[in-house]
Amino acid sequence: MIQDKIRELSGNIFGGVVANRRHLHSHPELSFHEVETSAFVAKKLEELGLEYHKMADTGLVALIKGDKPSNNVVALRADMDALPILEANDVPYRSQNSGVMHACGHDVHTSSLLGTAQILTSLKSEFGGIIKLIFQPAEEKLPGGASLMIKEGVLENPKPQAVIGQHVMPLIDAGKVGFRAGKYMASADELYVTVKGKGGHAAQPQQNIDPVIITAHILTALQQVISRFADPKNPSVLSFGKVIANGATNVIPNEVYLEGTFRTMDEKWRVDAHIRMKKMAEGIAESMGGSCEFNIMKGYPFLVNEEKLTASTRGHAEDYLGKENVLDLDIWMAAEDFAFYSQQADSCFYRLGTRNESRGIVSSVHTPTFDVEESALELSTGLMAYLAIKQLGN
Ligand SMILES: [Zn+2]
Ligand SMILES: [Zn+2]
Repeated sequence: MIQDKIRELSGNIFGGVVANRRHLHSHPELSFHEVETSAFVAKKLEELGLEYHKMADTGLVALIKGDKPSNNVVALRADMDALPILEANDVPYRSQNSGVMHACGHDVHTSSLLGTAQILTSLKSEFGGIIKLIFQPAEEKLPGGASLMIKEGVLENPKPQAVIGQHVMPLIDAGKVGFRAGKYMASADELYVTVKGKGGHAAQPQQNIDPVIITAHILTALQQVISRFADPKNPSVLSFGKVIANGATNVIPNEVYLEGTFRTMDEKWRVDAHIRMKKMAEGIAESMGGSCEFNIMKGYPFLVNEEKLTASTRGHAEDYLGKENVLDLDIWMAAEDFAFYSQQADSCFYRLGTRNESRGIVSSVHTPTFDVEESALELSTGLMAYLAIKQLGN
C-alpha cells in the first residue's frame, strides 16, 4: 500500500528533515529577505534532481511529475520568512541572527515540504499527475509573498486544481491535525486615522476645537458599524490599539492619531464597512468643527477552505492518521496570506499540531519562547505526500 511506503519513507528521512528544520531555525531571515533560505531550498531541490524557477525574488517553484499518465495538478505551499523577535529559547538550534526568529513555524513548513518532495520524488513510479511545490517568501508582511507569486503566475502553467498548505498550531498536540471546511481565517485591514482640531489652553475650550473629544465620539460610534450594519452571522472585529493625544493636563493638542485593525470574512461587506467607517468618522469630525483623515491599508483577504476539497482531504488525513487524530478547527480571526490562493483556486489550509506539554512546548506563535515538538515533522512530511497523491486521483 502507498500509505505504508510513505510511512516508511517519512521515517527514513526524519533525521534529515529535523536537521533541515534546525538549520533554517538557526538562520532565520525577515520577510522579503529570505536570500540564504531560498539558496538552501534551491540546493536541496537540486539534490533531489528537481528543476526550479524563482519568483518574487526569493520564492521558488518546482514540479514533480508522476510516471503514470495524468494531467492533474496539485500545489503544495510552504512559507519561508521569520519574524523580528529576539529568541528566548536556550536550544542548540537557537537563532544565530539576533533579533530575528522563526516564531511562526515557517522553518517547519519549509523543511517539511522539502521532506515531502523527497518522498514524492522516490515514489514517482507509484502515482500519476503533477505536484507543484511552492516555497513562498513574506507571509508575515504586506502585500504578502503569496499575492506577488500569484501575480507572477504561480497558479498558471500548469494550473493546479487544488492548493494545499499547512501551518503549525501549538494549541494542538503533536500527532494530530485540524481541519475546517468553509470560512476559516479573517481578512485584516490596517486603519490609520488622524483627527484634527485646534489645540490651545485647556482652560479655554471655547477657543479650541478639541480633537480628543472628537476622537472619543469617533471611537464609540465606529463600533456601531459592527453592531448595527454587519450581518451578525458573519464575524467582524474592529479594534484600535493605538490612540495618541499628545497634550497635557492643561493643553489641548492639535490632533489625535489612531491605529486599528478591521477583520471580517466577507469581501463585499469588507468594502462596504470601509466606506461606512470612513464616512462616519469624517462626518463626526466635521460636525464637531474638526476634520479627519481616515486611511485604510488593505491587508490579506479572508481564507476559505473549499468545502469538497477540504472534506476529501480531511478524509485522506483520517485514513493516514486515524480518525481520533483529526480534529475540527474553530474559525480564527487572525489573517494569513494563504488566503490569496484560496481566493483564486480551490484550497485547503490545515493545522499541524506541534504541542508537547510534557516538554513545556506550549508557547503561542509570534512569542520569543515559541518552539515545536519535532516529532510532528515525521507526520507532516508523510501526510502531505499522501494528501497530494490522493488528491491527484491516485
Ligand atoms: Zn505568523
Ligand atoms: Zn505563519
